[in-house]
Amino acid sequence: MIWCEIDVGALSENMRAFRRLIGPTPILAPAVKANAYGHGLTLAARAFLEGGADWLCVHSVDEASALRAAQITAPIYVMGPIPLDDLPRAAALEVRAVAYNREMITRLGEAGLKMRLHLKIETGNHRQGLEIPSALALADQIAATPGLTLEGIASHFADIEDTTDHSYARLQLTRFNEAHAALRARGHAPAMRHLSNTAATLLWPDQRMDMVRVGIGAYGLWPSAETRIAAALVGRADPGLRPALIWKTRVGQIKAIPEGAYVGYGRTFQATRPTRLAVLPVGYYDGYDRGLSNLAHVLIRGRRAPLRGRVCMNLIMVDATDIPEVCLEDEVVLLGAQGEAEITAEAMAGWAHSINYEIITRIAAHVPRRATRAPAERPAIEARAYRPPRP
Ligand SMILES: *Cc1c(COP(=O)(O)O)cnc(C)c1O
Repeated sequence: MIWCEIDVGALSENMRAFRRLIGPTPILAPAVKANAYGHGLTLAARAFLEGGADWLCVHSVDEASALRAAQITAPIYVMGPIPLDDLPRAAALEVRAVAYNREMITRLGEAGLKMRLHLKIETGNHRQGLEIPSALALADQIAATPGLTLEGIASHFADIEDTTDHSYARLQLTRFNEAHAALRARGHAPAMRHLSNTAATLLWPDQRMDMVRVGIGAYGLWPSAETRIAAALVGRADPGLRPALIWKTRVGQIKAIPEGAYVGYGRTFQATRPTRLAVLPVGYYDGYDRGLSNLAHVLIRGRRAPLRGRVCMNLIMVDATDIPEVCLEDEVVLLGAQGEAEITAEAMAGWAHSINYEIITRIAAHVPRRATRAPAERPAIEARAYRPPRP
């Protein structure tokens, strides 16, 4: 009684929108980590490839393995750490990997494995990157190890979507270019450079380099309000991205409670009027954040019903008093549009003191993802049936 509908047409269309934006040359590499930002790993990966994606970015070897098991042969770039003991498996899956330590290179060499590597440059995020001297040493080690290729260099922005002031991001860009120059001076010539996430891809047309790693935008969401504002300030055209995920459940029970009755654990809500509650079978176990307690709305019959009381493990209660037609097993939208009304990931993030990224990625993996195509994707019936009247 709880599921997500994924508009695979929208996912493909978002890829086409990015392709129009970046032009034919840069590699288009959507991030499908975190269960494709909650959209379903293989379902989303296929939709992206259909829409013209070139590579897929994942976090782990397990994600890469799931893609290969689904017969997906596109190049895969593993952005997270690979356990040393997993290197043979990674090599067998023919993934590209991020390189940032000597141990990995040594182990690959000892095992005689082949791998294409992307050196992670420290530019100010202080997550995975290497400062220039260590990057040079690692590039030397890679070059001296048969079977290994230094295919690219990469970095990641720390502060591009959280602000409209991009001076720190510019500084990171400068450091990245310095590292690239230092590598070249040392005789290394990685074929690829890449550091653009969604925000950079949308904001900085001149920095897409050889590949863009777009995550949130591929799913039709903007990284932040700041990114939207920054894009508008510099006159960027809206790429027309479309959200693809609707999270649904059904009314599990309807009950009347009197004025003064409490709802849920901790008695955090007390009815101020005779109330019709709808009980819905979704809770924090499913990724419906407990921070949404007493704050969120859901949609029933195209209207908003406010959450009453705390989010439970498997249930929530909503006030359906003002939706008198509500019926048992009515479809309920937790996230997405229903009729004219919509609950956006950004609205949920606001209620839960989080970001749209976390709202969508934490929809639990056990919630089924069903592929759909929006009606607009299908040829309109009227258009097909219409014949101009003969004179
Ligand atoms: C997740 C991730 C991205 C995508 O970021 P978005 O902001 O979702 O576009 C790009 N690069 C790296 C290294 C990442 O981990």
